[in-house]
Amino acid sequence: MNEFPGFLRDHLPPERINPETIQAFDAGERRFYRLTKDLPALHRGTVFWEGGILHGYPKIRRIIHLGRGVTRHFRGAFYAEEKMDGYNVRIRRIGDELFAFTRGGFVCPFTTDRLPDLVPPAFFDIHPDYTLCGEVVGPDNPYNSEPVPYMEEDVAFFAFDVKDPAGRSLPLHERYRVCEETAVPFTRRWGPFTPGDIEELRRIVFELDSEGREGVVMKSASDAVELKYVTLGSCIRDIEATAHLLAELPPGFYIQRLIRIAAISYEHSLTLDDNIRLSLARALTGPLVNAVAEADSGEGIRELFTVRVNSRETLDALMLHLKHAGVNAHLVSVEKDGKMFKGAFYRTFLKGTRELRRKIKGHGFYD
Ligand code: ATP
Ligand code: MG
Repeated sequence: MNEFPGFLRDHLPPERINPETIQAFDAGERRFYRLTKDLPALHRGTVFWEGGILHGYPKIRRIIHLGRGVTRHFRGAFYAEEKMDGYNVRIRRIGDELFAFTRGGFVCPFTTDRLPDLVPPAFFDIHPDYTLCGEVVGPDNPYNSEPVPYMEEDVAFFAFDVKDPAGRSLPLHERYRVCEETAVPFTRRWGPFTPGDIEELRRIVFELDSEGREGVVMKSASDAVELKYVTLGSCIRDIEATAHLLAELPPGFYIQRLIRIAAISYEHSLTLDDNIRLSLARALTGPLVNAVAEADSGEGIRELFTVRVNSRETLDALMLHLKHAGVNAHLVSVEKDGKMFKGAFYRTFLKGTRELRRKIKGHGFYD
């Protein structure tokens, strides 16, 4: 069986059309093909189907020195949008259906199920060929088990980009305009600024930090320059949210966050007071001690997720999607919740468990 249809050649050189680069999956009646790695002209997470392509969402350059980063990269006017801390989705209408795609290029059954609650349909009635990019944030989602302090109930969608059919972002003012016109919720924004407005930006970032928010993505009003800059608190929360996986995640994850903390305190002359030092120590050691206990128990290291969906079938589709994405998840309960269904599942972390379990069971090892 030739798994790869001819239309992929409209987008890719023939030597790239192989199982190392392309993975097929089904969503509803449709078959999609996702790009599993970055190619010279296409990002990982690009999706192909008969008659269409959805471009991958590009990486955003990070700065860790706000003042120097801004003056180095921006010449003219720019805006600062809030950087929301959830998961990235690209929403696209194909035929009569709306699909929500993950960063990796899968259709997310959960987000697709919830789209009627998240996005006003007017957007796609007026712009059927556009892609709406944004962040889904809030409790009861299948990807982030850590709550964000500013979202108490249910998930919400915040747009931050609109792409044309060729995968190009609309000019910034145009993005803001089409979302306002169709009542699509957008991330908060400030500006326009010029590179001389560092003090004002610094004030905004500090205020965001005091509210437990992640940071800003600054975007040029006239060209494609975009820069992300995060708060000190978000670095500590990232560590806390993942320290139970310290044995599983790449060490660079933690090193990068410690470097960010050091750069932030250097630039803004913060003396890291005992509160900050203590919260950092707690972030590192608390979850890790729990993880050792979990690895020693029968269950292993795991996280509990709850999701609320409109259709019961979505829960099975979600489990299948997570499996395809290489996630170990198993549904443990389903309850009716008004007109909706509430599902709970555990995600288990086999690599981290294996790494800790042998050691805690008393096996000797060289390090
Ligand atoms: P990378 O961009 O390098 O792949 P990442 O996937 O680890 O990084 P983050 O460090 O969270 O992600 O930063 C980029 C992501 O931030 C975007 O992919 C997007 O999902 C999210 N984001 C939240 N708010 C915004 C915003 N206002 N503008 C752009 N992206 C935003
Ligand atoms: Mg993020």
